[in-house]
This record gives sequence, structure tokens and C-alpha cells, in this order.
Amino acid sequence: MAHVVSKSEMRHVSVEELRQMASDYRESIWAQAQSVGREPKIYLHWTAGHYGQFWDDYHVQIDEDGEIYVYGELDDIFAHTWRRNTGAIGVTLLCGYLANTNDLGPEAPTAAQIESMALAIEALADGLWLTISKEYVATHGEAADNECNDWCHENYGPKSTVERWDLEYLQTDESPAYNPWAEDGSRGGDVLRGKAQWYRNQRV
Ligand SMILES: [Zn+2]
Repeated sequence: MAHVVSKSEMRHVSVEELRQMASDYRESIWAQAQSVGREPKIYLHWTAGHYGQFWDDYHVQIDEDGEIYVYGELDDIFAHTWRRNTGAIGVTLLCGYLANTNDLGPEAPTAAQIESMALAIEALADGLWLTISKEYVATHGEAADNECNDWCHENYGPKSTVERWDLEYLQTDESPAYNPWAEDGSRGGDVLRGKAQWYRNQRV
């Protein structure tokens, strides 16, 4: 059961600090994943809670203004993604209160949050030596439908029971360009990985 934690329990970090943390914990996280026959994963969520409301079950949490916070240690095993938590990092946007699949509600993902999540993905994937592909970086919705080249449970995502559809849709009033159901059929996860890969390309 997830619990709300106060902001004072969170560590505010820069993208470069997050990159260093991922590098520092790389061996530990890889060993953890390999102990259950997997490779490390980065799972992307939203909380379906409020802006500024922090939780105890995600490692990296991004607030409305795009500021990045870390809870606990990156190799702690938290309950963010059902049957996929060992050797996995949970990254979440603090948003999504009252969202449904037709209307992302009064606390939809902001453009700043989406951009910071892409930066966080790039930093974590760099520190952990991971490819930015769906196999290693997936939204909770994608993971729920077993789209990560592994099978961990019955499907419960947007293509099946729609029990979890985190970040499947990213369109907001202020940023209509983020609509993932564009003509090319791309979804929220594709948008986030695409942006993260763009940031990765800027570094080389
Ligand atoms: Zn989730």
C-alpha cells in the first residue's frame, strides 16, 4: 500500500546528480535484476494524485514545475510496477488526479513535467548503461500489457483491461503537440522515449 510522504523526506536533485546516482547504483541494480533473470528496467508512471503530492513507492518523482526529487535509494525495491519491481527504477510524474481516458483532468501532465521525465530517462539510462527502447524504458501502461519483451503477468494495460494506462495519453491544453494518438500512431511512451533519445544524441 502506497503512502504519501512529505516534501522534506525527498531529495531535490539536478539531472547531473541523478546521472551520478544511477552510475553509483549500476552494479547493485544489475545484480538485483540478474538475481531474477532480468535486466534493469525503468518504468514510467503518473501518480493519479495531486501536483506536489509525494509518495513512498517511486524512486524518482517529478513535480508540476519539472523539478526532480528522489525518494530512498535507487536500489530500494519499491512497489511501483506489479511483479516487475526487482532491479527496476520507478519514475513518476506527480499528477493525474481525476484523469480518465477522455479527459486528463484538472492536474494533467505539464509540458515541464514531460520534458523533465525525458531528461530523467536519459540520465538514468546513461548511468545504468541501458538502451532507450521499450524493452528497458516503458510506461506502466506498456509494462501492464507485457510489451517489454518479457511476460510477467496477465495483461492489465490500455490494450486489455485498462486497469493501468499511465502516460498513454499526454495531451494537455497547454501542449496539444504532445497528443500521442497522432497520425503515426505513437503513444505516450513513444513520445517520452523519443525525447529522451533526442537528449542522448545531444550529448555525443
Ligand atoms: Zn503506475
